[in-house]
Amino acid sequence: MFHTSHIEISKSAYKKNIQYLKGLVGSKTKISSVVKGNAYGHGINNIVPLAEANGINHFSVFSAAEALQVYDAKKPKSEVMIMGSVDDNEIEWAIENDIEFYVFDNDRLDKALEIAEKIKKRARIHIEAETGFNRTGFSYDQLPQLVKKLKDNQQYYFLEGLCTHYAGAESISNYVRVRDQIGLYRKFARYFTHHKLIPIIKHTACSAGLLMYPTTIMDMVRLGIAQYGFWPSPETQMFRFRKEVGDINHLHRLITWKSRVMVVKNVEAGEFVGYGSSFLANTKLKIAIVPVGYSNGFGRSLSNKGRVLIRGKRVPVIGTVTMNTITLNVTDVPSVERGDEVVIIGKQKRLSISVASFSEMSNDLNYQALTRLPADIPRYIVK
Ligand SMILES: *Cc1c(COP(=O)(O)O)cnc(C)c1O
Repeated sequence: MFHTSHIEISKSAYKKNIQYLKGLVGSKTKISSVVKGNAYGHGINNIVPLAEANGINHFSVFSAAEALQVYDAKKPKSEVMIMGSVDDNEIEWAIENDIEFYVFDNDRLDKALEIAEKIKKRARIHIEAETGFNRTGFSYDQLPQLVKKLKDNQQYYFLEGLCTHYAGAESISNYVRVRDQIGLYRKFARYFTHHKLIPIIKHTACSAGLLMYPTTIMDMVRLGIAQYGFWPSPETQMFRFRKEVGDINHLHRLITWKSRVMVVKNVEAGEFVGYGSSFLANTKLKIAIVPVGYSNGFGRSLSNKGRVLIRGKRVPVIGTVTMNTITLNVTDVPSVERGDEVVIIGKQKRLSISVASFSEMSNDLNYQALTRLPADIPRYIVK
């Protein structure tokens, strides 16, 4: 009620994904569930309890605002780690609430040490190494200064981790770059060990790292896209397929996005459908209007291109996607009536619309298509 579409999230699909991924990760390595971007569009408040029910008790986010959402959704024992943005005034909140956070430059380190001293509580920090992504992280030549500062201030922090992030582990074309990053990370780790600074855990792998480069697994893996049932790229899927022979379908999409037909009507030959003149009916048509448009996450670029499922058939979007509606050509499904279920992403009877096909049409990645699903569409957990 009160919404024009909703998203279902499959509990059983999540469980299967985690079982498969746990098998690859091994029993000695912890999994951190990456729930930035509103849990890749699935909703932080949905995914956190699901992950906990599957034995995961560590969560990674980008910002302090997301950490707060996880904090409200998690069990007391679960941990939260901020990989990106924490303002100076959020650091105090993070330290007070045992939130772990990345430290990737001197400003943040100084601030963390200063606040830890002020509030008499140790900051739980992960030192990020810049190994070639060229985003955040201490560079190798900053290490002497960094190590000195860390040694001089040991009472103000716990060195929870030493970490890095790979630039393009999802494609073999980046092999040299990733291999160099792995090598440089090891150099960082040796430098720390040599100076008797021992991080509690070492972690570097994202989904693609886990799937393509087993040496990146270490003490913890930060799993985003794979837990939601998507391969980081078609290449990673083929790579696992060649290793595992047999069942190619180890990852299962959790989400199904559904709406309903709002209006059904006929259009005479020679009429235009929608704004402007992008669609001309050549013959008499039956059309159905569905109350989902670009403001609801159905991109305008899918005008005259998108496909959805209705009564178990695939039907085309005709004319322009408007702010709040799409129009379907349902001439070939004459029984369609108001109130019929429309599947925008997911399965209906024997057909399925993948996020990839939904997004390929607009040249987006799964990552982008998922995180663009508006947060205000209600999400429900289903079996
Ligand atoms: C997003 C992110 C991940 C997870 O990446 P996936 O490809 O979704 O598994 C891991 N580490 C960092 C630093 C990230 O930003």
